[in-house]
Amino acid sequence: MGRKTRIAAVSAAMLVVLILAAVAAVWTMPGLQDEIARRAVSGRLASADHSALLTDKSLHIVLCGTGSPMPDPARANACTAVIAGGHIVVIDTGPGSWAKFAQMRLPANAIDTVLLTHLHSDHIGALGEFAVQSWIAGRKVPLVIFGPGKPQEIKAPLDLEGNAYGVSGTADVVRGFAMAYDSDSGFRIVHHGTDYLAPEGARMIAHEVAKPDLGQSVVVFDKDGLKISAFLVNHHPIEPAFGYRIEYQGRVAVVSGDTKKFENVAVFSKDADLLVHEALNAGMVRTIAGGLDQIGNHRLAKMARDTINYHTSPVEAAEIANEAHVKMLVYSHIVPPLPTSLMQHIFLRGVAEVRGEGDTLIGRDGMMISMPGGSHEITTSDLMN
Ligand SMILES: [Zn+2]
Ligand SMILES: [Zn+2]
Repeated sequence: MGRKTRIAAVSAAMLVVLILAAVAAVWTMPGLQDEIARRAVSGRLASADHSALLTDKSLHIVLCGTGSPMPDPARANACTAVIAGGHIVVIDTGPGSWAKFAQMRLPANAIDTVLLTHLHSDHIGALGEFAVQSWIAGRKVPLVIFGPGKPQEIKAPLDLEGNAYGVSGTADVVRGFAMAYDSDSGFRIVHHGTDYLAPEGARMIAHEVAKPDLGQSVVVFDKDGLKISAFLVNHHPIEPAFGYRIEYQGRVAVVSGDTKKFENVAVFSKDADLLVHEALNAGMVRTIAGGLDQIGNHRLAKMARDTINYHTSPVEAAEIANEAHVKMLVYSHIVPPLPTSLMQHIFLRGVAEVRGEGDTLIGRDGMMISMPGGSHEITTSDLMN
């Protein structure tokens, strides 16, 4: 062993000893442990301030749930947040989406409005959590919820006790959530005091949106330059079901909601900067249904196949985006789950041929698409990291 090699070996050994001594010190000294924890917490909290997004004159679209009822560890159910003009408006509150929203450390007290596209469970399940958590975060006024009225053209058979199903609109859904969370609100007000939890903030106010004709829309939000309108989509037999067109500082984004390929989506996406469109790959769902048949689960196989006829394929969504001259297309409400890059590749089969140069992305939970006012710029970032 040469002299240099010997020095290097001794240095490495000393380094290992020092590291082991440091680890031993941390493991045996509570004061040192607490100091490390304190610094980690302050660093994390200092990096958590995204409140500038509210006032930077940009239209931000945040994906807080890009999945569907098919279980997917990477994706919560339907949820898209709009951040602009000092407001956060949440479009759909699917199961698991509050947890995703919270992980992004956005200023939840600015959530003042929820817009529901339709009343399927994968779009409404976390409404109670969005209401209570935004109140805990500091919202002092009631949460306002817009959504469809009572179902049309559907009358489910009565059950054995004569109860009717398919008769509730958004007002009934909101009343149900308010009742479910009533005790929670009372406990919290008593525990923390009204200076910290304004009782008014525990309330939810529902508005049922009148069904617009094709080619028409209904303005549901118009404050501080942020304007959002509801238009009709085709998720038959779920009627009505809405998509939403969002406008701020000359920038336009559209959220399709659940729909089969439908011309009205192209009409309201005309020249939009961003279209967040649902997508179901029918071939992949048929493969899953075939697998379920093979293991004898014909019931789930049938129900999986049933979903194909009221959703849009990735290629069809690309055709809608092209027809409307949309700049960026982002897939959300992804069916089925795409755990590997090969699955993503299969999901997008045929899209590049249709879409050409147009920007096209598979949405992910935590993705933010930002459109500064008065420009043509579109940027994406990841709020989960
Ligand atoms: Zn649906
Ligand atoms: Zn859905």
